[in-house]
Amino acid sequence: MSHAGLSLLRHLTDKTGLAGGLSRALASPRLLVHDRGRVLADLACAIADGARVISDFRVMGDQRELFGLVASVPAAWRTLKEIARGGARADKRLTAAVATARRHAWAQAAARHGALPGVRIADRILDGVTCIRLDATVTFAHSGKELAEANFKGFGHHPLLAVCDNTGGEPLAWMLRRGSAGSNTAADHIALADAAIVALPPGFRRKLMITTDGAGASHDLVKHLDKLAARRGCELTYSVGWALGEREKTALRLVPEQAWQAAIGARGEVRERRADDACGNGQCAHRACWIEEAHVTGLTGLLREGPAGDQLHAWPATMRVFARRERPHPGAQLTLLEAEDGWRYTLWATNRAADTKGWLGQAAYIDAAHRVHAQDS
Ligand SMILES: [Zn+2]
Repeated sequence: MSHAGLSLLRHLTDKTGLAGGLSRALASPRLLVHDRGRVLADLACAIADGARVISDFRVMGDQRELFGLVASVPAAWRTLKEIARGGARADKRLTAAVATARRHAWAQAAARHGALPGVRIADRILDGVTCIRLDATVTFAHSGKELAEANFKGFGHHPLLAVCDNTGGEPLAWMLRRGSAGSNTAADHIALADAAIVALPPGFRRKLMITTDGAGASHDLVKHLDKLAARRGCELTYSVGWALGEREKTALRLVPEQAWQAAIGARGEVRERRADDACGNGQCAHRACWIEEAHVTGLTGLLREGPAGDQLHAWPATMRVFARRERPHPGAQLTLLEAEDGWRYTLWATNRAADTKGWLGQAAYIDAAHRVHAQDS
């Protein structure tokens, strides 16, 4: 088996100061064969190399000719147990060490390329903005591991993760949560958003974009992000999942067909599929042979100025609500509304200004900016 990249990666943990920082964070007065920071950095390398369980750590030991003395699997376990025993204090020291290494690495990347990589939004690149994406994922556990519980997908954990889009999904902050933890818990999302911002090197915190599919219609989260956005010298654009309630369903029924704009895919293309009764030429240009798969529209007007009055009066005045409709996958479970008109709806709210100029002001790109993860690539 070849793990050629492992050597480079391990070298990087030295060059960025990560291994050294972790060593200082985990320094012990005891005389240890294996420096705990080195072991932890090596564990990170093993995970990056594809390790799924701690016993996979032996891939590091197999590289002894290259790396010299490498800790064993039991030593890796001992290191993790010591860290766990260290509690919140150890956690804080480790987080600070990682943040310091990140500051160093990002400064080098920015010096070399003039800036941090931009945020890819469909076929465009948004420069000068640091993008944090919050995402709740379900992981599986076979046994009754700590906090593992039954959830809507099986048995395991329901962690919340904050990653940086600019640097290829680099984890900034995370929260290990019980399997039964909700997708929409505002408090968790707020804590994680704050931790992710703190994890960013200070020079990269001034123009932010934060997105999450979860936290549907969470007043507390929007209020929190709105407050951050109002800070002086800081720009923050958020987009947050929005629940599909009765008032939204009513508004959706009032959207005129021409108000739906075609949604775009990862390359900026309109997502289309062949109609069931399309002609035999798969490359044809007949309008009737192609069906747009997804559309986007703004719902703010209908919600704010509908017959029932302003239904968003309790929310920030700058907040807008958008809806996307897609053809459901065959066999997907549909809600009553979806079954009724054949579309599946997802909604989100954003503070991106209504007078935003250029491509980023278009509904299709506002949609793409919110849901890069869900795009087909
Ligand atoms: Zn045709």
